[in-house]
Amino acid sequence: MNRILLLAACALASNAFAAPEHSPRPGGIAVIDVGSLEVAAPDVAYDGKPVLLLQEHDRWKAVVGVPLDTTPGELTVAVGSDEVSIAISEHAYAEQRLTVTNQSYVTPDQAQLDRIVRERKILDSALNSFRDVPVAGIELIAPVDGRRSSSFGLRRFFNDQPRSPHKGMDIAAGTGTPIAAPLDGIVAVIGDFFFNGNTVIIDHGQGFVTMYCHLSAIGVEDGQTVSAGDAIGLVGATGRVTGPHLHFGTYLNGTAVDPAILIAD
Ligand SMILES: [Zn+2]
Repeated sequence: MNRILLLAACALASNAFAAPEHSPRPGGIAVIDVGSLEVAAPDVAYDGKPVLLLQEHDRWKAVVGVPLDTTPGELTVAVGSDEVSIAISEHAYAEQRLTVTNQSYVTPDQAQLDRIVRERKILDSALNSFRDVPVAGIELIAPVDGRRSSSFGLRRFFNDQPRSPHKGMDIAAGTGTPIAAPLDGIVAVIGDFFFNGNTVIIDHGQGFVTMYCHLSAIGVEDGQTVSAGDAIGLVGATGRVTGPHLHFGTYLNGTAVDPAILIAD
């Protein structure tokens, strides 16, 4: 009897808080109960893309990244042969106006535009990849110590020209500060990109992918397995930046979600 109770307690402790907070807003994460662990997990998809599943207590939880450009209202997720609706609330993201003095970052020339298109394909491919492996949880440790801005979702204007919203969290830290992998995973991309500078992308499985930009140095190789806490590079100011910081992006089902939801306090 005692042994059974102990086993039950261990099982509970290991996955009691596996799912992130249900945050059904543009750029947030919707968490849906999709059935008992006693039954095989259903196929879950949003916008045609497979969705990450976690075990929590005795239930399967689908963890859906809600795109930043989602119109508040109903969002439909395919669960097996059913459709489940989630109410998406409104969220007003702030506006930011920046002056960028290097004109090539504001109005790139044709060669730079070609480079940007090539790089976008590499990044999109990694951010949309789905490695079908079990994922125990997606709670993260902070990749660097430093002030974490609440700039995810900022609607940005560079020299008064509208640009895509900010799809990550900027963490203030000096050049050379070590960056730690926030969770186990596999290095999916390393490289020097026009806007993002020196960049590392880590694939944590089932479409959960994290990105690190503007590094002064990359400390991992393509395809390398990393554990939570491993050094993956150093903070820098490469690419389109106004000063050294870490741009930290977190992605689910190919969509950027607010890293603040995933970082343990
Ligand atoms: Zn950023």
